[in-house]
Amino acid sequence: MSSFEETVSRLLKIPVGYATVLRNLFSKPVTLQYPEQKKPMSARFRGRHHLKRYDDGLEKCIGCALCAAACPADAIYVEADQNTNAERYSPGERYAKTYEINMLRCIFCGYCEDACPTNAIVLEPIEFPTGYTREGMIYTKSMLLEAPPNGVPTTPQATQPGKFDRSIVPYPPVDASV
Ligand code: SF4
Ligand code: SF4
Repeated sequence: MSSFEETVSRLLKIPVGYATVLRNLFSKPVTLQYPEQKKPMSARFRGRHHLKRYDDGLEKCIGCALCAAACPADAIYVEADQNTNAERYSPGERYAKTYEINMLRCIFCGYCEDACPTNAIVLEPIEFPTGYTREGMIYTKSMLLEAPPNGVPTTPQATQPGKFDRSIVPYPPVDASV
């Protein structure tokens, strides 16, 4: 192609470019103003983790660390402590005193959910973990634990002796006095 033909070919492309601009100028924008606007996610989308509670406000997590054992990225750290009837966090013997997830390590595979015997840890399609520092990407228990239902006290709670002896089943607990 001669230099003249090349110049003509380039000039002919200019109206095509203008036409593309004009075609899109009045079309609906596809850009979302995140984080104010969020794209609706599929119900199966694995967003960030939440630690769940029972309807009576007790924490579902019993500090067993099965999630940490199942995690292929070694992203979860759990430290358990003893429940007492005067200070009860969860049904059964133990609760998670420390629960941390390093979101920079997490690959959002959901194995922790599958391993959990009480359905305490759930990856929900609500939000995605974000942060400016490495430290900020380590989500602590207070960041992960959901609030108790309206009007229900938070943990620790003072509970009736013998009512919450079992960690997992039967739940809700059977009241022997009834
Ligand atoms: S989603 Fe997967 S990688 Fe992330 S904490 Fe759970 S088990 Fe570990
Ligand atoms: S989230 Fe589930 S698996 Fe992990 S420590 Fe708590 S109860 Fe155990």
